[in-house]
Amino acid sequence: MTIYQNLIAGEWTGADAVENINPSDTKEVVGLYASGSATDTNNAIAAAKAAFPAWSRSGIWERHVILKKAGDEIMARKDELGALLAREEGKTLPEAIGETIRASQIFEFFAGEALRLAGEVVPSVRPNIGVEITREPLGVIGIITPWNFPIAIPAWKIAPALCYGNTIVFKPAELVPGCSWAIVDILNRAGLPKGVLNLVMGKGSIVGQTMLDSPDLAGITFTGSVGTGKRVALSSIEHNRKIQLEMGGKNPMVILDDADLSVAVEAAANSAFFSTGQRCTASSRLIVTEGIHDRFVQAMTEKLKTLNVDHALKTGTHIGPVVDERQLKTDTDYIEIGKKEGAKLAFGGELISRDTPGFYLQPTLFTEATNQMRISREEIFGPVASVIRVKDYEEALSVANDTPFGLSSGIATTSLKHATHFKRNAEAGMVMVNLPTAGVDFHVPFGGRKASSYGSREQGKYAAEFFTTVKTAYTLA
Ligand code: ADP
Repeated sequence: MTIYQNLIAGEWTGADAVENINPSDTKEVVGLYASGSATDTNNAIAAAKAAFPAWSRSGIWERHVILKKAGDEIMARKDELGALLAREEGKTLPEAIGETIRASQIFEFFAGEALRLAGEVVPSVRPNIGVEITREPLGVIGIITPWNFPIAIPAWKIAPALCYGNTIVFKPAELVPGCSWAIVDILNRAGLPKGVLNLVMGKGSIVGQTMLDSPDLAGITFTGSVGTGKRVALSSIEHNRKIQLEMGGKNPMVILDDADLSVAVEAAANSAFFSTGQRCTASSRLIVTEGIHDRFVQAMTEKLKTLNVDHALKTGTHIGPVVDERQLKTDTDYIEIGKKEGAKLAFGGELISRDTPGFYLQPTLFTEATNQMRISREEIFGPVASVIRVKDYEEALSVANDTPFGLSSGIATTSLKHATHFKRNAEAGMVMVNLPTAGVDFHVPFGGRKASSYGSREQGKYAAEFFTTVKTAYTLA
């Protein structure tokens, strides 16, 4: 089997490799992918540093052309890349193709942004002096990504980094190197100069940690767990480095008595169980007022009976497998914890076997949960959700906000008053009305509050905040 290698200083390199396994069929090896060393990582950082002066002064047209070419190729290959994504991560083929399309759109968006770079010219408070405010690239950016969006998250970090003139050391998650390798290959062939984008696949404890320990990264943009995010933050204070962290969520979905029941059920089922519940914006706390509670639970249970859990590439699969054995153990451990805490298992909770050996788990719904239980406070990151019964809107809002996290927050209601109040008072970076808590646009800001996020927003024009540094220049006229 050929090894998909790391790209360091414009050369494909690396003989040590690990297998990329399909969670829908653990007998299938998706490919052999290089596993980089600390030396590889330091070489990549040195290459990115050497490439920075020229790339940071490259013309915006050059950046536009490369980003546009990448977006076009990803779109042209959406079915093939979507299938690769579904095979390595386990989300269903339609979800995976949708994510691939989104990656393409992100490259298209930042191809456009490259042509819209602008600054400000303002008068000085002193006579005969002019003031210019401009944005300059930050330097070498470290990009560390998780396994749950193998193509979209790398795209939404790489595209703005390049757009604004930075160079990159990119370390994808060990579980899903395939899509990352593919987009680096695409960008490399689209004409990026050597060393501008370096790919170092491998272990977090080796490649990631070497990045954290380097004094030469001007910024790190990270998506992953709270624990690793804290390590990124602490190491970055040491190195006076800018950071952007996207971490966990425990996103609430409020369902009020006046909700349209079918809208509420669709939004809740999507939020909690699509993409196997493995989205940081997934909802795992369904906060339901007592007038609709029993009808909602009944309708949700009926809905769950219709969802097929199976191989990600099979037509008709609604929910793919859990990503790996370790995550499956976390999910089943939390199901046991929920039972012990006294929540009632209303649906699911069991492993299932299919034609191929994979990590298949039924969508799992608890009822009679309280917001103090561990299943309501800790991020599970699987197809496990609980219903928390509340008296009225006021209690629902207070329970929704009573969490260490603050990424996304949803409400199902037909009341303009409650929808408006919720939009203003939900303590989250993103609020959804009559929509799932997950599923966002590519051209507007993404990010959260509290323990979910740290630093400025990702995506849309707000991405410039992280990937540039502001300069104020004064000139005597
Ligand atoms: P998850 O539990 O979802 O895998 P992690 O935070 O462990 O979340 O992983 C997110 C990304 O962080 C991955 O690319 C992983 O390899 C990387 N990572 C893990 N440990 C470290 C570390 N010590 N330093 C830097 N990156 C790390």
